[in-house]
Amino acid sequence: MADLEFYQFPCLSDNYGVLVHNADTGETASIDAPDADAVEQALSDKGWKLTHILVTHHHWDHTQGIADLKSKYACHVIGPKAEASKIKDLDETFSDGDAFEFGGETVEVISTPGHTLGMINFHFPKSCVVFTGDTLFALGCGRIFEGDANMMWDSLSKLAKLPKGTIVYCGHEYTQANADFSLTIEPDNQALVVRAKEIATLRSQGKPTLPTSIALELETNVFLRAGNATEFARIRTAKDNA
Ligand code: ZN
Ligand code: FE
Repeated sequence: MADLEFYQFPCLSDNYGVLVHNADTGETASIDAPDADAVEQALSDKGWKLTHILVTHHHWDHTQGIADLKSKYACHVIGPKAEASKIKDLDETFSDGDAFEFGGETVEVISTPGHTLGMINFHFPKSCVVFTGDTLFALGCGRIFEGDANMMWDSLSKLAKLPKGTIVYCGHEYTQANADFSLTIEPDNQALVVRAKEIATLRSQGKPTLPTSIALELETNVFLRAGNATEFARIRTAKDNA
């Protein structure tokens, strides 16, 4: 069985789409559907045909392409059970601890409430990849729109326990702003100082700063490094007001 291939592309103003493909089975999943046209362009760039959409949460910039893509490709749409009433066109829904098969691999569903109450993340243990939606970002985390700080801290703590080598894809390119903020919290974190310089270089060249990894986030992400929910809440509030 072929290894899964992962193809990331920018879309909308600061979103990322990712396609996941298995050359032997021919299956191709779009992680979220931020923009049907951008997903179709990526499919044609790779010569892949869409068979699945894996939806992390109900926000429009992750779901607005679902209807067009489904009508065109008759793909199978998987999403969070807890947001089934908010997302149209779901074929199958999952909750925390569930698993399903895609492209010859088992995909583990991790619920990460906080940004939205029903957010789910998709962990591919064999490929050592996780899709964190708007929960964990490079050097950041999602704004807490529907949950509370305790909930988001618990969600981030679950992701922090994944194997360190796990590659992290997320929904947005917010890394430069996150780096600027992070340096106000941990100005003496040398790994963060080095990474912030790398990020500035990448962005000045118009290049993505993603994917990242659990190991790198554990070293440099001030939200993951908060240590407890109270300190996390303080940092999250500071970022909201930055
Ligand atoms: Zn969102
Ligand atoms: Fe988003």
